[in-house]
Amino acid sequence: MGVAFEQSGATRIVRTPGEVIVAAGAIGSPHLLLRSGVGDGADLAALGIAPIVSLPGVGRNLADHPYVHMTFGVRPGASLNPLLRGWRAYVQGARWLFTRRGPLTIGASQAVAFVRGGPNVTRPDLQINFRPISHAFDSAGRLGPDSADRVTAAICGLRPLSRGRVWLTSPEGPPAVLGGYLGEAADEDVLVAGIDWVRRIFASEPLQSLVLAEDKPGISAVGDGPIRQFVRETVQTMCHPVGTCRMGSDEKAVVDPRLRVRGIVGLRVVDSSIMPSIVSGNTVAATYMIAEKASDMIRADWRA
Ligand SMILES: Cc1cc2nc3c(=O)[nH]c(=O)nc-3n(C[C@H](O)[C@H](O)[C@H](O)COP(=O)(O)OP(=O)(O)OC[C@H]3O[C@@H](n4cnc5c(N)ncnc54)[C@H](O)[C@@H]3O)c2cc1C
Repeated sequence: MGVAFEQSGATRIVRTPGEVIVAAGAIGSPHLLLRSGVGDGADLAALGIAPIVSLPGVGRNLADHPYVHMTFGVRPGASLNPLLRGWRAYVQGARWLFTRRGPLTIGASQAVAFVRGGPNVTRPDLQINFRPISHAFDSAGRLGPDSADRVTAAICGLRPLSRGRVWLTSPEGPPAVLGGYLGEAADEDVLVAGIDWVRRIFASEPLQSLVLAEDKPGISAVGDGPIRQFVRETVQTMCHPVGTCRMGSDEKAVVDPRLRVRGIVGLRVVDSSIMPSIVSGNTVAATYMIAEKASDMIRADWRA
């Protein structure tokens, strides 16, 4: 087993008597496997890649938390946007550098609510992140602080049913990625319920006194149609892709329960791509635990 990589323009190959562990994340790991001939045999052959083992599940089952941002105009002092715009951002940068104080010392989200989207839901299926900032894209497509005093409530569907895919369109180029967000109606329904939650929270104290007006989707978005349109037009990734090298014992699984790539000796995948389904919260802690568990299994397998 080994890996081939480019260094200073030359292709190098490193071999190991042990194992190769792929840990390139939910986009990178299936990409590496596919480029290496591990994936759907017919798809690979169509691109001129010789299949080593046919595993049609590689790149399938992409799960991610769909994310929708509501923003509210607020009274002066309630948003950090003015401190982070233009030259003031440099002042805050210097403040952080020399005093370790100021808005750059805190994370984006200052509070998080886990709530249920419907009366018959038994476990939270919505995560709402509250931020004293809002962001906007400039004419060059760059992300930066909003021009007005606004705050954000970012709504995330925690148990999405929709699935996307990672696949190759060429042997060498970047992978194609289809998020598949809102492919299942239930994923849209829960975000619609999240907007209702946020409106109720912002209509309650202590937030109500700070809010001047709802900015997005805006108070004209009333009723099912406009809200759904807003969700469809603005849904984005929460940057939590998982599941594209799914662990399992069935024919479509990519790795077995010890994270060994099925049908190949000496190759494991250890990262968020092995999650069979997405966790109902942020993904990094679960990924750390996958790594902890994998290190135990690898040591045990090599001792045996
Ligand atoms: C902007 C952003 C914010 C996030 N915020 C949070 C948060 O607040 N809380 C939370 O829990 N989770 C958060 N996440 C999600 C979290 O970062 C991921 O779930 C987690 O990092 C997944 O770990 P991983 O090891 O699977 O992949 P990664 O952390 O992506 O690690 C994969 C590594 O492989 C490398 N790589 C990829 N392809 C190749 C290749 N061909 N050759 C060599 N190296 C390669 C990459 O550069 C990367 O270093 C966030 C993600 C993003 C993008």
